[in-house]
Amino acid sequence: MMALLEVKNLEAYYGHTKALHGLDFSLQEGGITTILGANGAGKTTTLRAICALVQTSGQRIFDGRNLDGMSTESIVRLRIAHVPEGRGTFVRITTEENLRLGAYTIHNRRKISDRMERVYTYFPRLKERRNQQAGTLSGGEQQMLAVGRALMLEPRLMLLDEPSFGLAPLIVRELFSILRTINKEEGVSMLLVEQNATLALKLADHAYLLETGRAVMSGTTDEISSNAEVRKSYLGY
Ligand code: ATP
Repeated sequence: MMALLEVKNLEAYYGHTKALHGLDFSLQEGGITTILGANGAGKTTTLRAICALVQTSGQRIFDGRNLDGMSTESIVRLRIAHVPEGRGTFVRITTEENLRLGAYTIHNRRKISDRMERVYTYFPRLKERRNQQAGTLSGGEQQMLAVGRALMLEPRLMLLDEPSFGLAPLIVRELFSILRTINKEEGVSMLLVEQNATLALKLADHAYLLETGRAVMSGTTDEISSNAEVRKSYLGY
């Protein structure tokens, strides 16, 4: 089976600082892959590198196309949606206007309203709050909005950066259950970065362990979860 995303020898730079040191990994279509790693290992940078938000070298092949030299906007048009850490809510406009921004690459109005209804079936709370100023939504609602905005793109791949950050356990459970449904029903592949390794390993089917910008371990989530080192360092038992 061909991988949806194939990353080879990926390096990323912030000015002269190298944050990724030759990362190799691949992601299967329809799957959920998680990247685990300590603070500063390069998880966020990996997601940014895929959509050309940092300077990179190496290979990124998405659905057989080389992303090298492509702008972030062109990558978005290939339907790769980034849900950044901090959620990227536009606080002064409404929930619905935020959702519309997610569909900026789609010009067919009918399609946009169909997508919006689809988002509202996953997140009925966003529908209730469609006219509310987005900055006044709760943290959980804003995270749902960030996922909803990405879904407006009808993505093939979603890059999720710490979706559980700062949320109460009950909301996290609800959000992760919706992510699972979206993966199953829409067939959206996901690349998930999470501090909460236990949660990430439950949702994902494959995992990579990142240490200082390199993948040091990879496998199915069952394999990774049963690794003694991972259990001690990331799962706490
Ligand atoms: P965390 O879990 O703490 O978010 P992470 O694994 O996502 O960590 P990154 O944010 O990708 O790690 O950071 C990887 C490395 O790149 C770190 O050494 C970090 O200091 C550096 N870095 C990240 N952003 C920048 C930046 N804007 N300028 C310079 N260096 C940066």
